[in-house]
Amino acid sequence: MIQVTKPFLPPRAEFDKYLDGIWERNWLTNNGPLVNELELKLKEYLNVNHLLYMTNGTIAIQIAIKALDLKGEIITTPFSYVATTSSIVWEGCTPVFVDIDPSSLNIDPSKIEAAITPKTSAILATHVYGIPCDIDAIETIAKKHNLKVIYDAAHCFGTKYKGRSVFEYGDVSTTSFHATKLYHTIEGGAVFTTRPELLKKMSYLRNFGHDGPERFADLGINGKNSEFHAAMGLVNLNHIASILESRRTQSLYYDKVLKNLRHERPVVSKHAEFNYAYYPIVLPSEDITLRIVEELNRNWIYPRRYFYPSLDSLPYVKEANLPVTKTVSTRILCLPIYHSLTKEEIDFVARLMLRVQNN
Ligand SMILES: *Cc1c(COP(=O)(O)O)cnc(C)c1O
Repeated sequence: MIQVTKPFLPPRAEFDKYLDGIWERNWLTNNGPLVNELELKLKEYLNVNHLLYMTNGTIAIQIAIKALDLKGEIITTPFSYVATTSSIVWEGCTPVFVDIDPSSLNIDPSKIEAAITPKTSAILATHVYGIPCDIDAIETIAKKHNLKVIYDAAHCFGTKYKGRSVFEYGDVSTTSFHATKLYHTIEGGAVFTTRPELLKKMSYLRNFGHDGPERFADLGINGKNSEFHAAMGLVNLNHIASILESRRTQSLYYDKVLKNLRHERPVVSKHAEFNYAYYPIVLPSEDITLRIVEELNRNWIYPRRYFYPSLDSLPYVKEANLPVTKTVSTRILCLPIYHSLTKEEIDFVARLMLRVQNN
């Protein structure tokens, strides 16, 4: 069976070593030494000044919205994982969907201004598949209209924009370290900001608002993560170079074997250093997409229609008129890509897809 992705598991002994330490210290969670070490090592690896390790990528978005005190309407992309939209609604705000750019598949900045109303407080954009948004254009609009910017950078571990980690852009960037992501800590996530006062606020929010054992600085929630999760993160960080390299090699190999398949690929900005986290393709029609899925499934291969359906069709939001998203989301397919996927398996996937097309 070939799934769209497969969580990376490091050699067991490397994880066991950290478990010995946890048993010696008897310190399991609450900002423990491994969580601290992971935060430090991640800052070093990503070359960023500030980050907070959290329970998951969803609580990271919710804490970002709360910390920026967002109210009213938040302009967002309909082409992302459901957590981007659900977090907005969960925080009592209203998502306003803006159509995507057909080339990057990210929110189209040229359509943002028309969606701004007196109630708009922020833009929450996803760098979908690890492809950076048009950050400069979004920043310009945000400045002009005095809006906050949050980037859902859940797919972006290792992605750079203009030479810096993409996590450094926006008022806050968030990411996910879920088991299915390129870099993971089983469950986990983080927030990033270059503003120290915002970082401090989010560190209170992450820990029930505690400012010392008997003092509370703010309204908080439990966004902490454990020593066990941090241990997995520390071990996996030692393997990240080879994980990134295998994704790149596999992507380039897909490019080669799919040359004769009619499809389009999202375009990565020339300012970006891409992490090859996913292998999305846009097929010519929904019909051929469904036929390809069926044929692959028959052969125990499970690509995913990430991201179908578009988020404006969720039962708790208002549907919008988004022609680009509508057509792309019905024709999108993410092909299997993960560290241990072999060339032979990619050949097999490609052969089946071409057979469907040519029938
Ligand atoms: C995975 C993901 C999330 C949620 O992260 P979790 O760690 O699973 O909570 C949010 N946004 C996007 C775009 C994602 O892919």
